[in-house]
Amino acid sequence: MSDSLAQLSAEYEALIQFLYLAPVGLVQLDADGEIAMINPIAAQLLMPHSRDGGLDNLFVALEDVAPDLRSQCRQYTASSGKICDGMHVHLHAGSGGAKRMPQILSVTLLKLDASRIMAVLDDITEQVRRECRQRQNDAWLNAVLTGITDYALASLDAEGRLCEWNPSIGRVTGFGPEAQGQTYAMFYPTDAITPEHALDRLREADADGWALDESRLLRADGSAFWGSVMIAPLPEAGREADHAACGDGAAYCLILRDVTDKRDIAERRRREAFSDHLTGLANRRALFEATSQELARSRAAPRPSAMIVIDADHFKAINDQHGHPGGDAVLQHLAATLLDAFRDVDVVARIGGEEFAVLLPSTDLAHALDLAERLCARVAREATAFDGQAILCTISAGVAVAVDGDGGVDLLLKQADQALYAAKRAGRNRALAWQPESVDAPVQEVIDGV
Ligand code: GH3
Ligand code: MG
Ligand code: MG
Repeated sequence: MSDSLAQLSAEYEALIQFLYLAPVGLVQLDADGEIAMINPIAAQLLMPHSRDGGLDNLFVALEDVAPDLRSQCRQYTASSGKICDGMHVHLHAGSGGAKRMPQILSVTLLKLDASRIMAVLDDITEQVRRECRQRQNDAWLNAVLTGITDYALASLDAEGRLCEWNPSIGRVTGFGPEAQGQTYAMFYPTDAITPEHALDRLREADADGWALDESRLLRADGSAFWGSVMIAPLPEAGREADHAACGDGAAYCLILRDVTDKRDIAERRRREAFSDHLTGLANRRALFEATSQELARSRAAPRPSAMIVIDADHFKAINDQHGHPGGDAVLQHLAATLLDAFRDVDVVARIGGEEFAVLLPSTDLAHALDLAERLCARVAREATAFDGQAILCTISAGVAVAVDGDGGVDLLLKQADQALYAAKRAGRNRALAWQPESVDAPVQEVIDGV
């Protein structure tokens, strides 16, 4: 008997301890507001507002700011339950002394029984202020979203998926609410951006505060435009658990802008500097730049990058037989075949007279070799029509790969070159992958016909 009494008393102690330490203000009062128990947080919240320096009655203490508390309790006729829930009470600055910011209390009254009421008090000043600021920001953003005509603003989740649709997305891209939940890569032509590239930009934004890219984008109706895409991490990025809990998940902000007009001039200049006059392909400089950028990225997000170097076989003979214009036509035909054979994301370049190179992001050696072999076979099959004749030409190709960006551009091109010369030595019209033996394979001219 005394054991169970001791246990009961211990439990009561624990309960009192809990009420005492609870992180909200708790006050137990009777039906007239007389305070029977008050914990330190409640005392802290109420004391500065007590006029006589005492805290005997909650209704009296809050008379000025919540005059109808007493009548609310009186009118509540149920035997127990919630009298009021999260009522906002604005406490005025204390009399005299330094000017203080107005304080906002949330007051919840629970009727326990006929003679006991529990009041839960919480200082929600900061929370309310944050909500006000948020409302202002929302109104501002809403005005921007409805007012702007050539920008689309969207939020992306940690994987780059559009969190929600808004009218600015519709105006600039023509996509409707079906865009929600899709990755922002949907604005790019198929094959123009790999999933890895889409994630790279997010990582770049994390590292540098923003990532900017200008490229050809597609509207919902398939028409193309030049878009500037800026991605910036949201300040709260990383609190994924919170975001997930409120079903939002926004981690980045995306600003997409139609820059077609400005781009036309800039693009012409860029093209002049980075492209080859005869074929319109990227030139050596553009290939170098794209490759060093891709290798840097694949060091950050490990993946293989393949390089195929291609050289037309016995091209001198073609020039001799069909004249320089005939040779030019073959080079142009070859360029068109290369563009057709590879993805948009691959960089196809003419790096010398009858030499070409293709950078293949996120591609391993076996796959690149397979593509190069198919290309050799296709080129050998498809003649160039020139001056009423069909000119046949073969190519040799060397394939190398940089794993996780190792070695740099020079080494990658050097190894692809060594593999190319091994292919030449092995008889031409074929593709070979680089291997250590490629370097010192015996130099042996194989006599082969063109
Ligand atoms: P290999 O199979 O060993 O590569 O033999 P090849 O004759 O192709 O090699 P070589 O490098 O000796 O000759 C390349 C030729 O390509 C020489 C040059 O006249 C020709 N050439 C280079 N640039 C152009 C060009 O822009 N147009 C044309 N028509 N020919 C070019
Ligand atoms: Mg050559
Ligand atoms: Mg050649």
